[in-house]
Amino acid sequence: MHKDVRVSQCSCGRVRCEAVGEPIVSAVCYCSDCQAGGHQIEALEGATPVLDPDGGTPYLTYRDDRFACVEGAELLVGYKLGEKAPTQRFVASCCNSGMFIKYGPGWWVSAYRTRFAEPLPPIEMRNKVARRLSSLPLPADAPAFQSFPGRLFWRLFKARGAMLIGK
Ligand SMILES: [Zn+2]
Repeated sequence: MHKDVRVSQCSCGRVRCEAVGEPIVSAVCYCSDCQAGGHQIEALEGATPVLDPDGGTPYLTYRDDRFACVEGAELLVGYKLGEKAPTQRFVASCCNSGMFIKYGPGWWVSAYRTRFAEPLPPIEMRNKVARRLSSLPLPADAPAFQSFPGRLFWRLFKARGAMLIGK
């Protein structure tokens, strides 16, 4: 295995994804959909947590061309919060591990941080904290933003540019 490949595995080991290089961003999201989607997954039989104790969801976000399921892809099931929701949360149906989320029109995949083995990159930002419901103290490990910050969109935009020119 290449040294800059990070592996994300379901808890029973049948589904295995690989991410190449450093993520576009390592962030925690507190938006209402991520919280609701996380609870939806955690309510499945045998599921392990995807949310942090304070309701945040930590993700490693990768370009579409740098993240792939290399084993057990046929076991993935996409969950939506509503029939017309543009976002699907993919769960390994063997053991109900939340693996990653895919926003339909996006060029990125946000993979649940909890499924990766250490060492992991530090958290770089905490987003949508306006929607945070927890009374636990907000971790001070990274800047926190009420909404989605410009720097997040800038990272996604830069990643798209790099993809388009084949870098
Ligand atoms: Zn599994």
